Amino acid sequence: MRIDILTLFPDMCYAYLNESIIGRARAKGALTVECENIRDYTLDKHNRVDDAPYAGTTGMVMQAQPIYDCFAALCENLGTKPHFIYMSPQGKTLTQQRALELSKMDNIAILCGHYEGVDERVIEEIADEEISCGDYVLTGGELPALVLTDCIARMLPGVLPNEEAFTNDSHFASLLEAPQYTRPYEWRGKTVPDILLSGNHKAVAEWKREQALERTFLRRPDLLEHAELSQDDLAKLEKIKERFNAK
Ligand code: SAM
Repeated sequence: MRIDILTLFPDMCYAYLNESIIGRARAKGALTVECENIRDYTLDKHNRVDDAPYAGTTGMVMQAQPIYDCFAALCENLGTKPHFIYMSPQGKTLTQQRALELSKMDNIAILCGHYEGVDERVIEEIADEEISCGDYVLTGGELPALVLTDCIARMLPGVLPNEEAFTNDSHFASLLEAPQYTRPYEWRGKTVPDILLSGNHKAVAEWKREQALERTFLRRPDLLEHAELSQDDLAKLEKIKERFNAK
């Protein structure tokens, strides 16, 4: 899969993309992520890419032309039109499910706005969808684009050691994950739950499932509506509800 990030600040993005799991995945070719500098496409003789908003208040708006030409050049270089996403606080909030769907695509381009945002006409012209990383506003789309890229990347083959490394995580199956522990066994008087040292795989799996159900019930009960729950899960959940409602 290839992801292209259209930005005015490629170095900001590469600082993240070159490190850790994503950096290693890029180095071994499990995915390609490149940044396209929108400023390279401005026709303005002073290299400007933004201007004051019509009838606006403060701030600057990114102009349509450099963004459009940057995307057109990308399409020509790739020989195809990538699925084009504009990161925007006005978009649909990113979910694990949407990231999973996007991870099946071959080519994605992500536009990072900056300043007061982007001239609406270029969004109308080329965006396939708008995605938000949450109900708050940031100074630019670089962090949201990296959030989306990272979320997609870790579900691609060869990025994590195996599929379990992400299918067991919170949100994948609309549940939160059970708590995790590592050495030492005792820390500040707190010990690791003994079941995790029992070597009994079936009992450990049962415990983790129950913990996941309990956490989800207590912290994010809304997720349970979309979770695939077995009869056994439902029975466990009933007991959890009784236990906490009785408190
Ligand atoms: N004036 C815009 C509005 O009120 O909707 C906000 C512009 S914001 C300061 C600048 C850029 O940051 C946006 O164009 C967008 O690309 C990005 N951005 C900010 N918050 C975001 C969020 N929650 N999700 C995705 N992108 C965001």
